Amino acid sequence: MTGTVEVINPATERVVREVSLASADETDAAIDRAHAASPAWRDMAPADRARLLRRFADAVDRDIEHLAGLEVANSGHTIGNARGEAGNVRDVLEYYAAAPERLTGKQIPVPSGVNITFAEPVGVVGVIVPWNFPMPIAGWGFGPALAAGNPVIVKPAELTPLTAMRLAELAREAGIPDDVFQVLPGKGSVVGQRFVANPKVRKVVFTGSTEVGKQIMAGCADQVKRVTLELGGNNANIVFSDADLERAATTAPYGVFDNAGQDCCARSRILVQRDIYHRFLELLEPAVRGVVVGDPADERTEMGPLISAAHREQVRSYLPAEEAVAFRGSAPDGPGFWFPPTVLAPIEPTERAVAEEVFGPVVAVLPFTDEDDAVRIANDTDYGLSGSIWTRDVGRAMRVSRGVEAGNLSVNSHSAVRYWTPFGGFKQSGLGRELGPDAVQAFTETKNVFIATER
Ligand code: NAP
Ligand code: MG
Repeated sequence: MTGTVEVINPATERVVREVSLASADETDAAIDRAHAASPAWRDMAPADRARLLRRFADAVDRDIEHLAGLEVANSGHTIGNARGEAGNVRDVLEYYAAAPERLTGKQIPVPSGVNITFAEPVGVVGVIVPWNFPMPIAGWGFGPALAAGNPVIVKPAELTPLTAMRLAELAREAGIPDDVFQVLPGKGSVVGQRFVANPKVRKVVFTGSTEVGKQIMAGCADQVKRVTLELGGNNANIVFSDADLERAATTAPYGVFDNAGQDCCARSRILVQRDIYHRFLELLEPAVRGVVVGDPADERTEMGPLISAAHREQVRSYLPAEEAVAFRGSAPDGPGFWFPPTVLAPIEPTERAVAEEVFGPVVAVLPFTDEDDAVRIANDTDYGLSGSIWTRDVGRAMRVSRGVEAGNLSVNSHSAVRYWTPFGGFKQSGLGRELGPDAVQAFTETKNVFIATER
């Protein structure tokens, strides 16, 4: 152990629990155990591996209220969101439980023999999770990785380890072998670093900041280690004048302020066609003031606190002069890392709050002239994760969807990540894709075998 960390409730600033942090030696020992568990997990009958994943899903399902309560206390997520996040872990496990029995290869026509391919498990997978969505992001990594026949070690963020630790207990109850699914709370610079440096870890799945992601990618290059990166975003919500303006304006706050804006998919730049710019702001104001910010355990609450005092300072540091604030929503006084929903308009696109990822409840509203201008502004960022397009013109919806350089777009909605479909970023928002029908392949190596049949 390298000491302990106090887990703080961000809505009350009270200590929830103390958690021990794993050392580099303990991490290497866990990696050794996972490596040793690899052959039995790989060679288990596919139906048995599938059944264990379904039992894990059932255990999560029975524990949803408990897991959600832990996330409310540890992360300040609203109780409604937290239930959805625990349910997402269940759904992802169920979805990928179908994979072991369908992990087929190909028979490829070749001269003089028979050629077949196998989807072999890659080996020990290390999943490094950020604090903003502790449960789903862990599950998007470990669900398909386990299904493909790999042992997994999850490193939760230091700030938010509690639900991941509970998931490890549930996996054990479900009968997943101890060394096949491990959760190791610890520092990124210790546990996460060992995932990158220890050669027995064959793939790293990292979600977090672009800055750390680049270091992980560089570190993995040394061993040509497989890596998936899910990084930041600075996403555009594009509203054309032919759109259903009422719906666009009343849903826009939820497209950016959900999880207090601590979401890599937050639509933090609203681009509005110039002729409806003022009308849109008029409709947006009551919607923003109506966002219910407060005790995350209250069923009616729509937005909780930020994760930590340090993060609140960081969010504050992005704000330009007060004149740029068009209007704000509310936030409680007293203990807790509160920050009110904040709308910036009019504002220069070069301001840091527009040009960079704020990762808090701050949104900028910018005008554009026509379709080309909207696409140009949307793409004027190193990121490319998500975005929304509001228009009643189907052709325009398709043209703009194809024009925006981002991995996940939604038309006339702000669709969140859906486990049935691939998720990931263009440009500096990431590398590779998670979820969807092909995610299991990302945890396998293709092996080609040729069998000569000539006499
Ligand atoms: P972060 O500092 O990059 O941390 C993410 C995880 O990496 C944490 O578990 C952290 O451990 C660990 N880590 C830190 N330094 C490391 C190192 N040198 N080697 C290995 N692991 C290391 O990001 P964050 O502050 O937790 O999260 C906020 C950022 O994540 C935002 O920029 C956001 O955009 C991005 N994000 C992206 C997505 C996506 O899907 N694209 C999703 C969520 C968040 P500690 O706990 O010790 O810090
Ligand atoms: Mg960090």
